[in-house]
Amino acid sequence: MDHQAIREQIVMYAKRMYDEKLVSATSGNISIRLPDRKDAFAITPSSESYPDMTEQRIVIMTIDGEILSCPDGARPSSEWRLHAEMYRAKANVHAVVHTHSPYATAFAAIREEIPLILAEMQPWLGGTIEVAPYAALGSIEVARNSVNTIGKKGACLMANHGVVAVATNLDLAYVRACYVEDAAKVIHLARCIGTPHPIELRE
Ligand code: 13P
Ligand code: ZN
Repeated sequence: MDHQAIREQIVMYAKRMYDEKLVSATSGNISIRLPDRKDAFAITPSSESYPDMTEQRIVIMTIDGEILSCPDGARPSSEWRLHAEMYRAKANVHAVVHTHSPYATAFAAIREEIPLILAEMQPWLGGTIEVAPYAALGSIEVARNSVNTIGKKGACLMANHGVVAVATNLDLAYVRACYVEDAAKVIHLARCIGTPHPIELRE
C-alpha cells in the first residue's frame, strides 16, 4: 500500500467506526504503520469530526513523536503514544484501532475482564480480554500499560476508558475491535437472563 492508499483506508475505517457506534463524537483513533518506514505510522488527527474527515487530514509521524506530514491546523491523535508504543514493542503489529465502544467500555469502567464466553473469542482475540491499569488519557503510562496487558492477544480494555485492538493489518484490527464489543454486549445480555458459562479451553 502506498501512503495515499493508507490514508484512504484509515479514513474509511474511521467513518465506519463512527457510523457503527464504536465511538461517539470525536473519540477513538486509528493508525497504520508505514510499509516503507517501520518506525513511522499514519494516524487520525486529534478531535476532528469523522463525517467531515478526508485523507488530507491524516498525520504521518515517527514512533518518537517527530511529525513527518501534518496539514494546517491539524494535530496528531492525542493517543499517538498508545499507537507508537504498540509499534515499538510488537514487530508484527501494523495497525491499531482504539475505540470507546459502549458495552466494552462498561467493562473497562468496572475494571473487569471480559471472560471467554463466545467461541470466536479464542481464534480472533486470543481468549479473555484483560483490563490495563488506569492512566491518564494520552499519557505514556496509558500506552505502556496497554502494551503490557495486551501481551500476545489481539485486544485489551483500558481502565475507565475504552478498547485497543491490534493486528497485522487494519481489516483484522477492526474486526477484533468489533468482536470485543460483541462479547461485552452478549455477556451483559446473558447476565440479564441467567449465569453465563465461560468456555473451558479443554471443552
Ligand atoms: P483524539 O481525538 O486526540 O484521537 O482522542 C480521542 C481519544 O479517544 C482519546 O483517548
Ligand atoms: Zn480514547
